[in-house]
Amino acid sequence: MSAPRILYTKPSITEREVEYATDAARNGWGDRCYAYIERFEQLFAAHIEAPYCIATSSCTGAMHMGLAALGIGAGDEVVLADTNWIATAAPIKHLGATPVFVDILPDSWCLAPERVEAAITARTRAIVATHLYGNLCDMDALLAIGERHGIPVIEDAAEAIGSNWRGKPAGSLGRFGTFSFHGTKTLTTGEGGMFVTHDRELYQRVLALSNHGRTPGGKQFWPEFIGFKYKMSNIQAAIGCAQLERIDELIARKREIFAAYRQRLGGLTTLTLNPEPVHARNGYWMPTAVFAPELGLRRERLLKEFASRGIDARVFFYPLTETGLFGDVAPAPTSHAIAERAINLPSYHDMSRADIDAVCDVVLDIVQSAETGVAA
Ligand SMILES: *Cc1c(COP(=O)(O)O)cnc(C)c1O
Repeated sequence: MSAPRILYTKPSITEREVEYATDAARNGWGDRCYAYIERFEQLFAAHIEAPYCIATSSCTGAMHMGLAALGIGAGDEVVLADTNWIATAAPIKHLGATPVFVDILPDSWCLAPERVEAAITARTRAIVATHLYGNLCDMDALLAIGERHGIPVIEDAAEAIGSNWRGKPAGSLGRFGTFSFHGTKTLTTGEGGMFVTHDRELYQRVLALSNHGRTPGGKQFWPEFIGFKYKMSNIQAAIGCAQLERIDELIARKREIFAAYRQRLGGLTTLTLNPEPVHARNGYWMPTAVFAPELGLRRERLLKEFASRGIDARVFFYPLTETGLFGDVAPAPTSHAIAERAINLPSYHDMSRADIDAVCDVVLDIVQSAETGVAA
């Protein structure tokens, strides 16, 4: 009998999520049709330490509206890391602006500040900092660059629930932050997202944008401009409320799982795991192993090894320039090099110690056989 597959992510759904979702389905209509959404936004604002939150249908939608609210459009440039999920770049294209891809740092796998500064032109209208896999962008450097050039820094914090920079939650440091509650993320509503800001005016613009250009308190059924419809449903928000009430537990488990990986794999000199600088806390959404170049390992080989042992590993994000969707742009060298020899390791709430050990065994076997190969 073969052991069950070890999935790479899976949400933690308890009786509480089921109870709230059931209540929303049964009672969340009429004058209560937004009750869970309002509560979810309030709870999230408290958690993320930013006053203005708008629940959305996805992180992509939150990013689209935020960029639109900043007035970004044709002829404008937005700087972001080549290592990114397409969701971060697509809204830039939808607005007719140009994504400008720059390289990452070899240790954090996030935006390299000096590359960002070098990429700034008279057309640059925003810098998008994606906190990859829970790792943090160098926010001190990026915010300083933004200030120097008068350009807003935006945080894609989809993967950074539970991550802090100098004690401040990721997603709360820039002009605005976006979050995803997709089923693979640390906090889930199935699909869903959040727009977060300290800027009251920007909040009001996004609020109107999110409601088909209608302003709160305005004339009934009267759009004042063409907006979007990226709202979260009350039933999704009900699940989100239950998840937020358990957020400390959800984050603590992510950190525990990473600590278990680090305990067994952290001593290897030919392997790098997610960093946690002293002034940051990593929410460790996705534990990631980067294999040293001298091992000669490639992504395809890693995937095959994991699959043959019944483990779902996940490829490190391909550089977006490699997709060919953004014209004839050469991939950023570090983004390209790391993606070639890295892999995401499974991490989900109900993962057992035996599951983690099984993953570690595969990693150790791969490294050992590669090292033997190198020595031979
Ligand atoms: C998951 C993710 C998104 C997209 O989130 P959706 O809710 O699916 O739109 C955006 N950016 C990053 C970095 C992500 O990991």
